[in-house]
Amino acid sequence: MKKFMMLLLALVMVLSLAACGGKGGLTVEEGKLHMSTNAEFPPYEMVTNDGGFEGIDVEVAGLIAQKLGLELVVDDMGFTAALEAVQNGRSDIAMAGITVNEERLANMDFTDSYATGIQVVIVPEGSSITTVDDLSNAPLIGTQEGTTGYIYCSDKPENGGYGEDHVVAYETGAVAIQALLAGQVDCVVIDNQPAQEYVKANPGLKILDTEFAVEDYAIAVKKGNSQLLEQVNKALGELIADGSVQKVVDTYITAD
Ligand code: GLN
Repeated sequence: MKKFMMLLLALVMVLSLAACGGKGGLTVEEGKLHMSTNAEFPPYEMVTNDGGFEGIDVEVAGLIAQKLGLELVVDDMGFTAALEAVQNGRSDIAMAGITVNEERLANMDFTDSYATGIQVVIVPEGSSITTVDDLSNAPLIGTQEGTTGYIYCSDKPENGGYGEDHVVAYETGAVAIQALLAGQVDCVVIDNQPAQEYVKANPGLKILDTEFAVEDYAIAVKKGNSQLLEQVNKALGELIADGSVQKVVDTYITAD
């Protein structure tokens, strides 16, 4: 009888260990991979006409989920909230064209980079701002809250920024563009790909030739969740190596 009890105990321990190590214990919700994002960042993430989600990040996340045997769930929220969700363990990954920087590295972990982001300056055609250097002449700069565009521009002049007084932070990039069209700001600093889309959609705007900053996009995971980070990174690495990521990029970004 004692032997049987020991065996039973051993079995229970093995089973519970298996449960902890299985996919169920790895993600916020069993069988699912929750991605927090801000689906207003074309062509990386946007809402479709029927209320679904599409974009480079959404599709790459879908392929990663597939490799991990999980179902992708997209949780749409503000950009800052999307970063917070992954830090607080309310999402498994955050993908939102997120630039890796030191401050974020202190608060979350990142996979290898899967894309390059470039901060550019959008101005109305005929603007007196013709190069990035003209940003030193104290124009009012529009940005999206919480983004690296905001962080660089609002930094102190001794750190290469223009000071908070010269920067307005809008909830989304789209709202910043509306403010630019309405003449409430003189330019908008934002990532290149959404910038291209906004300029295409709004005649009278153009992107300056000079780039403001070049950055790496990566997937954020909760700090210390090395098991998930490893699995996501491995899946991402395979998808980069076999050309799947490039294939997704090519369907959304056509050279023209
Ligand atoms: N790449 C920028 C950042 O990480 C902007 C991202 C975004 O607006 N979705 O801050």
